[in-house]
Amino acid sequence: MAFSVASSYAKLRSIVDATPNAPLPSPASMQKATKALIASLPPTGLGEAATEAHLLNDLPGGFNGPKTSSNYYGFVTGGVFPIAEVADNIVTAFDQSPMVHLPDQSISTIVEDRALNMLVELLNLGPGWGGKTFTTGATGANILGLACGREYVVNSRLKNATGGTGVGELGIVAACSKASIKEIQVLTTMGHSSLYKAASINGLGRQSVKDVPVSKDEPWKIDVDKLERELQRSEDGIVSIVAISAGEVNTGKFAVSGLSEMKKIRELCDKFGAWLHVDGAFGIFARSLPKTAEFSSLIDLTAGLDLADSITGDSHKMLNVPYDCGFFLTRSADTLSSVFLNPNAAYISSGPDASIPSPLNIGLENSRRFRALPVYAVLLAYGREGLGEMFARQVRLARGISEFLKSSNEYELLPSNAISVAEEDRFENTHIVIIFRAKNERKNAELVKDINAIRKMYVSGTKWEGKPACRIAVSTWKVEVERDIQLATDVLKEVAVSSF
Ligand SMILES: *Cc1c(COP(=O)(O)O)cnc(C)c1O
Repeated sequence: MAFSVASSYAKLRSIVDATPNAPLPSPASMQKATKALIASLPPTGLGEAATEAHLLNDLPGGFNGPKTSSNYYGFVTGGVFPIAEVADNIVTAFDQSPMVHLPDQSISTIVEDRALNMLVELLNLGPGWGGKTFTTGATGANILGLACGREYVVNSRLKNATGGTGVGELGIVAACSKASIKEIQVLTTMGHSSLYKAASINGLGRQSVKDVPVSKDEPWKIDVDKLERELQRSEDGIVSIVAISAGEVNTGKFAVSGLSEMKKIRELCDKFGAWLHVDGAFGIFARSLPKTAEFSSLIDLTAGLDLADSITGDSHKMLNVPYDCGFFLTRSADTLSSVFLNPNAAYISSGPDASIPSPLNIGLENSRRFRALPVYAVLLAYGREGLGEMFARQVRLARGISEFLKSSNEYELLPSNAISVAEEDRFENTHIVIIFRAKNERKNAELVKDINAIRKMYVSGTKWEGKPACRIAVSTWKVEVERDIQLATDVLKEVAVSSF
């Protein structure tokens, strides 16, 4: 009998559906799956049927549960909406590569363009986002952000520069030398680790990333006066890219307090020729919460992020499409293409008057996955209201757990010593990340391990003020608020009883 993809999909579905809600596989299951893996190239192939059996029977027991469990709260992973999974299978089945805009051959670049436009709508970003592309994730998008920032800050100092004389053409050493630039700095607060990687890849260096926080107690908050002093260094040949953490991955908090602060930062960037980038991998989606009193404080906190020159977002997190899928938006299509232009490839031209730019000229890859389709599917299936309702459930769960932690004698909700606790840490500012620790220091060292050992929910470990801390990030579509508050508080109570 010929090998049938359809029957494989059916078997796969029944395995996924039968997977327990556990966020982690058991150690025995992990061992079994690891042992079953084949390590060397078979001289003659196993054949499709035997390989299928190996893939379906041996491997799933060795996978963790961001997709299958409703209670996986590690990192910020998102799950996978069923309709996104269907779309992703279509992506594989038809194997389109939206590299060149060829509207008479494939609609893939048009789908990508539509999906990106609808994302801009979902995020209430308004008009003017001329440069848009899907990336592998927020890391990829941050690389694009710093690359555009680098291009812009250098090119705008090359006074008589015309197209083609920027970093993209000259290289960073020659361009900076001609522009009398001694240093390019990236000003941020608690920038995501990928921002440092992006600084390295872009030739700025990890050491170029500098924190300008208001205080040690509120390290996520940007100090606008300090920022201004750093931007003034442009007079000495030190130019800047500003990277706003919105929200910060450890605490979920936002670097800016809202519209008036963003306006001020925008003015400063314009005055000193700096590029304004927002890393909103998950936080940017707070802008899509329902516009009700319940979420007004988060909507206010994220107002003004649209004043940026560029924005990083992740679809594989809050939007619950499969890995991997992020997106990058910029107001300056010219800056984006001056970095990513893939020149001298006449055979891949889509013609001079294409309305949609060829993705290979505005992003890292040439050949690339058709990762727009699951995003398109999710946006269509749920629309503004359906997605707003999902984001609301996620926030309600995070707030419900926070409330328990705040009133608990054993746990301490962090950050606890922020100066403006009354203001900044108001309950209504909780988005989807919460960070906490056990009050008992000795027990705190084991807290993450103890919570995860119960195997009902999974949390990540982190550090706060040099001490271990525990982090919960709610990002799956599977959230059921009351059920999951109950589950999380039961686990936290159980850990408290067993180990304090
Ligand atoms: C997750 C995250 C990133 C990195 O995203 P990837 O999708 O893992 O590449 C960058 N910035 C922030 C704020 C994040 O939360």
